[in-house]
Amino acid sequence: MVAEIVHWIDGARDEGSGSARQEVFNPATGEVTGSLHLADGDDLQRVVGVARRAADSWGEVSLSKRMGVLFAFRELVKRHTDELAALVTAEHGKVLSDAAGEVARGLEVVEFACSMPQSGKGEYSDQVSTGIDVLSFRQPLGVVAGITPFNFPVMVPLWMAPVAIATGNAFILKPSERDPSASLLIAELWRQAGLPDGVFQVLHGGKETVDGLLTHELVDGVSFVGSTPIAKYVHATATEHGKRVQALGGAKNHAVIMPDADLDLAADHLSAAAFGSAGERCMAISVAVAVGEAADALVEKVSARARDIRVGDGTQASSEMGPVITAAARQRVHRIIGEAEQAGAAVVVDGRDLVVAGRQDGFFIGPSVIDGVRESMSAYEEEIFGPVLAVVRVQSLQEAIQVINANPYGNGTAIFTGSGSAARTFQRQVSVGMVGINVPIPVPAAQHSFGGWKDSLFGEHHIYGPDGLRFYTRGKVITQRWPHENDESHASMNFPSS
Ligand code: NAD
Repeated sequence: MVAEIVHWIDGARDEGSGSARQEVFNPATGEVTGSLHLADGDDLQRVVGVARRAADSWGEVSLSKRMGVLFAFRELVKRHTDELAALVTAEHGKVLSDAAGEVARGLEVVEFACSMPQSGKGEYSDQVSTGIDVLSFRQPLGVVAGITPFNFPVMVPLWMAPVAIATGNAFILKPSERDPSASLLIAELWRQAGLPDGVFQVLHGGKETVDGLLTHELVDGVSFVGSTPIAKYVHATATEHGKRVQALGGAKNHAVIMPDADLDLAADHLSAAAFGSAGERCMAISVAVAVGEAADALVEKVSARARDIRVGDGTQASSEMGPVITAAARQRVHRIIGEAEQAGAAVVVDGRDLVVAGRQDGFFIGPSVIDGVRESMSAYEEEIFGPVLAVVRVQSLQEAIQVINANPYGNGTAIFTGSGSAARTFQRQVSVGMVGINVPIPVPAAQHSFGGWKDSLFGEHHIYGPDGLRFYTRGKVITQRWPHENDESHASMNFPSS
């Protein structure tokens, strides 16, 4: 059965007036399971108009009432974790336990948003000049749009919406067309939590819809997460149209393995970080930079683990890794492995021939390990976004840092070492936004903010945490005097000096 997947406008499911449809697949079976309604220009105008009115009234709702909604939403998301995870697995393909983990990480941001009375409070300076006080506080931007990628259909929207809504904005989510269903359950949970209609809406569409949001005069801010070329485009276009923009892009995350590292621990974590969610994580480790004599043993250990990974339908408890998102994505991974082989790299573990019994039409590819990768190969230059670990061999920590710093991306990185001194040198010298020390996927906890450097982030603000709060609000500073009746006026042509 093919489900109709519609928009969520002004507090209810809505078919919209657009006639275009896009197929949604179950990547584990290759079957079409959904028909996604794509917005037209009228739908976009309607959604933005509703959001504008909702922002005006939601921005006036007391903080304590807003927090009531946030706390209720937190309980509802927690209670519906399994349902959300099932929707993610059905359209994305990742295994159910990993999908539930994605919901849990999103929940942490909801909990951060519940701390708004504390983290969002203003500042006050008493008697800065005689009889004069200065206070500062922050106000919502108004209408903000969130444009999200396929790889975390619950977590990434929850990086944005709870903070935007807690700070008094109306939020329009434009989810990925590939796995759009979870966004509708999120909308339903906001409604059940008591959020007024129109404060959270979902509008489906592709480039045209995104362009409409980036250029609409009533949209004040844009949060984007996706690939680097689109992030760059979104940042440039929305900035040109006067909006505040944060645009998180793609990644090529390196892990350095020093000869003094615990190689079993490093191999365990590397294989989880490279092949978990079929490598479709923006913080996946896709390059192992093996230093000196660590290389041979590391390749052997990580390859043994890669061969043992159970690949299958994400709904089956025995599966550790699911399919990739589309047949085209699998084709791309095949191509890149082939090009590495032709260029002289050694494909030590080859996932290309994998067939999953009973799921011959699914978009499966097994874990692959490619040794001897050089920086000129496509396996190094491209963000593969599949279950492939490229091994680059270097002779020193300095050389490893040079390789990483020369890479255009700067999202996450990690070092495995037993040396505090090596770790400290690495954390200080590496040009990357998020660094793990014996931690392969250093996604910051929700009270910090998430963001890469270089081509992994365009804009000034990282996402969620304190930077998220700043992104969705504008500062205002009040300088005030309340003269007594009999005070003399001291107005002066000069700047006051006391
Ligand atoms: P994508 O860039 O193809 O799509 C992201 C969003 O942009 C989607 O909503 C899509 O509809 C929209 N879009 C696509 N093409 C567009 C165009 N030409 N004009 C306007 N909008 C367009 O990304 P994806 O394939 O869905 O997700 C994978 C990518 O996201 C990877 O590169 C991954 O590294 C990145 N990602 C980054 C982070 C991060 O935190 N830096 C997190 C998750 C994913």
